[in-house]
Amino acid sequence: MLKIDFNLENMEKCLCSDCLVQSNSSCVNDQMKLIEEVGHSVDIDSGFILDQEKIPKVYCTHGKTNCKDLNYHEECQCIKCDVWKEYDLEVREAPAYFCKNGKAIDCCKMTDDIEDRESKLRELKRTYYTPI
Ligand code: SF4
Ligand code: SF4
Repeated sequence: MLKIDFNLENMEKCLCSDCLVQSNSSCVNDQMKLIEEVGHSVDIDSGFILDQEKIPKVYCTHGKTNCKDLNYHEECQCIKCDVWKEYDLEVREAPAYFCKNGKAIDCCKMTDDIEDRESKLRELKRTYYTPI
């Protein structure tokens, strides 16, 4: 079953901080400031963390934002993210916009069948790389 870890490594890969969907949100900016204020003393991998719901990153791991002022007309950055690629989220038919749609385990079609996943991956590669 798909499980994306909420850890420092994935936080660093996450592109949500550069995403226009939330860059003008005052609610998100307040959450960012709070992270910066306590960030130096927080070791996420140690188990002590801020309330995950108040961390405006890695929504694919902890779910929807609790901020109401995001602009979903802007483009989600998830498909450019290494976490997206590593967990085959395209193949799993993830809708991206995890800040709106919720964490990946809830919103992605789960495909535990290896052959089915491999076949979808091949199909996806054909779509991307077939010369015109
Ligand atoms: S989940 Fe997607 S839309 Fe939401 S902030 Fe992150 S990159 Fe942007
Ligand atoms: S897939 Fe989206 S929400 Fe998840 S770590 Fe990457 S940019 Fe952040």
